[in-house]
Amino acid sequence: MGRAFVYVILGGGVAAGYAALEFTKKGVSHGELCIISEETVVPYERPALSKGFLLPEAPARLPEFHTCVGANEERLTPKWYKEHGIELVLGTRVKSADVRRKTLLTATGETISYRVLIIATGARALKLEEFGVNGSDAENVCYLRDLTDATRLVNVMQSCPGGNAVVIGGGYIGMECAASLVINKINVAMVFPEAHCMARLFTPKIANYYEEFYKSKGVKFVKGTVLSSFDFNSEGKVTGVNLRDGSHLPADMVVVGIGIRPNTSLFEGQLTLEKGGIKVNGRLQSSNSSVYAVGDVAAFPVKIFGDTRRLEHVDSARKSARHAVAAIMEPDKTGEFDYLPFFYSRVFTLSWQFYGDSAGEVIHFGDFSGTTFGAYFVSKCHLVGSFLEGGTKEEYEAIAKATRLKPSVEDLAELERQGLGFALTV
Ligand code: FAD
Ligand code: NDP
Repeated sequence: MGRAFVYVILGGGVAAGYAALEFTKKGVSHGELCIISEETVVPYERPALSKGFLLPEAPARLPEFHTCVGANEERLTPKWYKEHGIELVLGTRVKSADVRRKTLLTATGETISYRVLIIATGARALKLEEFGVNGSDAENVCYLRDLTDATRLVNVMQSCPGGNAVVIGGGYIGMECAASLVINKINVAMVFPEAHCMARLFTPKIANYYEEFYKSKGVKFVKGTVLSSFDFNSEGKVTGVNLRDGSHLPADMVVVGIGIRPNTSLFEGQLTLEKGGIKVNGRLQSSNSSVYAVGDVAAFPVKIFGDTRRLEHVDSARKSARHAVAAIMEPDKTGEFDYLPFFYSRVFTLSWQFYGDSAGEVIHFGDFSGTTFGAYFVSKCHLVGSFLEGGTKEEYEAIAKATRLKPSVEDLAELERQGLGFALTV
């Protein structure tokens, strides 16, 4: 059994949705493009799963947040794919790939061949077992990567109103889920190994602001330690969490957000890997010229910083997907991908954006006892990164523009004095 397509997108997440839209803009013909996804629904905006999807009142539900609404573009429903002659192979895992023969073998036994392949397999959540702790299978231990996980999380949350949740991990999932749990009136304790939350991006001063805000909402922080084991009841449900520092936390539910691993395994030994992802060039093309990689799974050259990075954020998934399709469909008109890293989050009434690189010296600015503050990152006398909480649309655009320009900064005290004004006048 087999089918052949000109273009195949492997994966049906954020990058796949944006790639599909771009293919139609560039004039793909009916029957040329196929998307294969393990998920049973067409691509959706994954960020909604830790935000709107978890709201107690009027939660976001599909089909509302199919791609590409997150970038204020068309909402691609199953009908849209049909009308554009895009073949959807959903609920189907690809279990092996042969890049020399240009074929993919699905778990249902079908061989799908391509002329050009776009790998958009994203990443999987790391499991506690990988850190030597058992219990991921317990019905009240939740991860959050896809719609199935999110639906389960909502059910678990609703099964213990007013109960206690332990959130493991102080990164993006930990911070956004903790806020959502609080909004659902669940008591939250957060546990993570670092000295402060969002350790890889936030400075201690920035982290302190968010931690104090969370504490004011009742969240308890247990820092500098990790989970060592769970207590279970006779039904196999987790009832408590034991930490390495000897302390114990009661738990009606647990949410785990301890990082991800890119889904590269189908291509190991066939394509060059770097930074845990599939190495691609400025056209998002891998070491095999018929194979492109985009989104979380791709390690691409970040021109502005002159190195190769793998970014795990939605803006990079959207833009790398579009660029790959442009490079495939209009090779002569398409240059090198020139991407400015962009991260953001929204929790409670707070909202921040970050552009660039969190390297070098940090200059904080603004009112850390109020609602608008930020930080600049200066490396080798140039602005390389900008963080802003509580900005207006114009202010966020200004820090993005300033960071992209990488202006020279000779006098750090003067930068501190100018604060946000610096970005607004660059
Ligand atoms: P994904 O969207 O993960 O899609 C991968 C797809 O590949 C999935 O459909 C998967 O089922 C499929 N797949 C994988 N392997 C196979 C296989 N062998 N066969 C078939 N199909 C396969 N980023 C932000 O910048 N801001 C946010 O606020 C934000 N919030 C987030 C909230 C949550 C809960 C999560 C999980 C992530 C969030 N992110 C956010 C990150 C962002 O969603 C990802 O960077 C983005 O989804 C990456 O897109 P992708 O297409 O590369 O991978
Ligand atoms: P992150 O990498 O953001 O954070 C993982 C956190 O867990 C880190 O603080 C990490 O510490 C910590 N950790 C690692 N091991 C343990 C352990 N054994 N016990 C306790 N804590 C541990 O990953 P997430 O899981 O939070 O997010 C998953 C993915 O989803 C990421 O790609 C992220 O970008 C994406 N996402 C993005 C959002 C956004 O951009 N707004 C929102 C939600 C998800 P250490 O740093 O020391 O490893």
